[in-house]
This record gives sequence, structure tokens and C-alpha cells, in this order.
Amino acid sequence: MRKIPFSSAMGGPGDCIFCKIVSREAPSNVVYEDDRYIAFLDIYPFSKGHTLVCPKEHGETIWDMKEHDIADLFQVASRVSKAVVSAVEADGFRFVQNNGEAANQVVAHVHVHVIPVKMEDKGRFSDRRRFTPAQMEEIARLVREEMAKT
Ligand code: AMP
Ligand code: ZN
Repeated sequence: MRKIPFSSAMGGPGDCIFCKIVSREAPSNVVYEDDRYIAFLDIYPFSKGHTLVCPKEHGETIWDMKEHDIADLFQVASRVSKAVVSAVEADGFRFVQNNGEAANQVVAHVHVHVIPVKMEDKGRFSDRRRFTPAQMEEIARLVREEMAKT
């Protein structure tokens, strides 16, 4: 199998921001977690509710995961997408899953983006946005509330 290269500047497992979110060494707005997966709001979202779903165990790309764990990751991502779309009253969503720097992966810990989209944004290029910490917490609260219903 061909190896997917990452530059050393991206850091290894001991210096991974998503591992730090898992261990609570770094802050985040967690919307869901179980013993193997975690979902939290993207700090620099493409849309309100943009969420990242990750395996807790460090791996750089989806090729580092066992196939049944990949299936479980997407099962969690699907559940999260339902909660996110309801929470922000979106009309659809994107799954984006980048593998490798060449594919614009900037955090070398496997993750699935769940990006909600509204009908009025159809076809429009989406820029990244910033929300205040209070807004982020409110969005996370709404998503958690919807997760509890699934
Ligand atoms: P990718 O380009 O697929 O590697 O996406 C990485 C995503 O992680 C980007 O959308 C970033 O905004 C997001 N991100 C980076 N650092 C953090 C963080 N500390 N908390 C939440 N999201 C983050
Ligand atoms: Zn990691």
C-alpha cells in the first residue's frame, strides 16, 4: 500500500490537537462521545453547526483504521449529522473526509467533517466563519439536545 506523506511540521501522536481534545488537555465544544468516538464543533466552521467526528484512537488517515471501525465511525457521523441538521435547521449536509496534506488535511488525526447546508446557500461558495465562545456553546448545546433524542 502506498504511504500517505505528512510533513514533520504536522506533529506526531504526542503532539496532536485532536488527541488533546480527547484527553481534555485542549478545550472544545463536545457534542457527543462514547468510549471510541468523539464529536466536537469545528473551531473555524464553514457553516453554523460544522462538526468533526473522530475516533479517539490516534491514526493519521482512514487507512490506519480497521474496516469495521471505519463503518462505526460513519455510523456515528450519520447520527451526528441528524442532530446537527435539526439543531441548526439546515436542509442538507456534507460529509468531507480529507486524507493527506495533498488533500488539504491539516490535522493528522482521522476526522469526518459534518457540514450542514441551508437551501438559501445552495450553490454558494461557503467561507469559514467565526462564532463567539458563547455562540459556539449555544450551538453545541442544541446539538447535544438533538443527539439525546436519537
Ligand atoms: P482538515 O483540513 O480536514 O484536516 O480539517 C481540520 C479541521 O480542524 C479544520 O476545519 C479546522 O478548522 C479544525 N480545527 C483545527 N483545530 C481545531 C480545534 N482546536 N478545535 C476544533 N476544530 C479544530
Ligand atoms: Zn491524535
